[in-house]
Amino acid sequence: MKKARAVIVGGGLAGSEAAYQLARRGLPVDLYEMRPAKMTPAHQSGDLAELVCSNSLGGESHANAKGLLQAELRLGGSLIMQAADAARLPAGGALAVDRRAFSRFINEKIIGLAEVRVVRSEVSALPPQRPLLLATGPLTADELAADIQRSLGEEFLSFYDAAAPVVLAESIDMNVCYRAGRYQQRADYINCPLSEEEYRSFYRALTEARRHTPHDWEKLDFFEGCMPIEEMARRGYQTPLYGPLKPLGLRDPRSDRRPFAVVQLRQEDHAGRMWSLVGFQTGLKWGDQLRVLRTIPGLQNAEVVRYGVMHRNTYLNAPRLLDSKLQARKMPGVYFAGVLAGVEGYLESAATGWYAALQVAANLRGGELQPPPPESMLGGLLRFLTSANPRNFQPMNANWGLVPSPPERLKKREKRELMFSRGLAAFDEWLRGLD
Ligand SMILES: Cc1cc2nc3c(=O)[nH]c(=O)nc-3n(C[C@H](O)[C@H](O)[C@H](O)COP(=O)(O)OP(=O)(O)OC[C@H]3O[C@@H](n4cnc5c(N)ncnc54)[C@H](O)[C@@H]3O)c2cc1C
Repeated sequence: MKKARAVIVGGGLAGSEAAYQLARRGLPVDLYEMRPAKMTPAHQSGDLAELVCSNSLGGESHANAKGLLQAELRLGGSLIMQAADAARLPAGGALAVDRRAFSRFINEKIIGLAEVRVVRSEVSALPPQRPLLLATGPLTADELAADIQRSLGEEFLSFYDAAAPVVLAESIDMNVCYRAGRYQQRADYINCPLSEEEYRSFYRALTEARRHTPHDWEKLDFFEGCMPIEEMARRGYQTPLYGPLKPLGLRDPRSDRRPFAVVQLRQEDHAGRMWSLVGFQTGLKWGDQLRVLRTIPGLQNAEVVRYGVMHRNTYLNAPRLLDSKLQARKMPGVYFAGVLAGVEGYLESAATGWYAALQVAANLRGGELQPPPPESMLGGLLRFLTSANPRNFQPMNANWGLVPSPPERLKKREKRELMFSRGLAAFDEWLRGLD
């Protein structure tokens, strides 16, 4: 009997990893990639898994969240990690690669696989075959994006990312900040109060901070509702005070007075480990973003787990649409991976491609596969995708806010190392259980 073929659309970080994992399991795949016939505005070559910007896959240390995801992928026999090791460049504690050697390695490996048929053409509508894995990334070609939108619902696909920075709860100074909702509503927010003097310092830092320079195709027309905080500040000293920093209805319970200004933080995940700054979408350079953030009282030691960005980005509202298999709830047999599925980063994209392939393989074989444990970085990331607040959903990268903190009171580095070894051991055990 002829084996059913899986179809993957998009030969980037997620799609290439997925094709390799299916082939490793002896399953035939058609992998559609539109480059080089049709390029995206960011890619430069026809190679599979091209790195479009930085050449780093993140820090490698045993106290680093990306380092844990790298280690998990290595255990899982990831192609992206094999390519990274083959194309590695010296870069201190980071895993940096020669970008051409990296994507060449992947290209050659995939083309050489008997199970994979690489089809170099654009896919303009959802193919009818199942299982189907869509991994067309942040720059998904327009016609396919429109068809996904038609199938899943207008409001469920975003075409740009206007995100505010997200900080780790344990790095917020609650001796300075307080919980409250405006006008005595439920105390769902963390509030950072600013005196006039503190607002002045914050405003100065904000207006002096440098902006990221977008490519022409990345430039966005901002709706008034999601204007970057730096643009608001550019319009005048008072403007942020009438916008996200307005103090109305936010009395400080300790002084029983209304602060001059207030920065509010909203919970990002169910466990309350990650909080985003309300109305602080920003395109500032990351170093400058951190400097500005740390002028806010209570955030002087803030640890950013995801920086604010303003750029073109095609992604689904994962918590609304996807189940824990990365399968569309409305379309059984249709899986998503990479940025399109709501993650950010090369490594995260490859990791979701790896996992989606295992789910596609289980589908073809008629089996069931549980997601990895929550202590692992991949488990934490997947859990976030399905349980984050769908109202403000933004793509997420690997970070320590995604996995539970250990109960022990430890110094930061020791705690992270413990989370690393605990996560890797849990992932290893889960992986062994799959055999
Ligand atoms: C400009 C830019 C810079 C970025 N910089 C970084 C960075 O420095 N570090 C980082 O970690 N992350 C970065 N990212 C985010 C993200 O990690 C990368 O975009 C990553 O490549 C995403 O992996 P992916 O597999 O989801 O998509 P991609 O790697 O983009 O793969 C998607 C593939 O699908 C193909 N495709 C699209 N539509 C179709 C279609 N209709 N038919 C057939 N093929 C199609 C594309 O040609 C592409 O090869 C950046 C993103 C952008 C847009």
